[in-house]
Amino acid sequence: MLKFACKDAGVDCNYIATGETVEAVKWNAFAHAGVVHAELLKSMTQEQLAELTRTLEANIKQA
Ligand SMILES: [Zn+2]
Repeated sequence: MLKFACKDAGVDCNYIATGETVEAVKWNAFAHAGVVHAELLKSMTQEQLAELTRTLEANIKQA
C-alpha cells in the first residue's frame, strides 16, 4: 500500500490518500483536491499544477 499526505504538498489538511499503485494514489489525491481544495486548484497555473503533480509523486511513501 502506498500513501500520500496532503500536508506534504504544503496544504494545511489532514487527508491522506492511499492506493496500491502510484496512479491510484494520484487519482485519489486529485479526487480529494478537486472537492476540498477546488479553489486552490482553480487559482493555480498549468505550471504550478505540473509542479504540484511532481511534488505529489515525490512524496508518495510506503504505507
Ligand atoms: Zn487535502
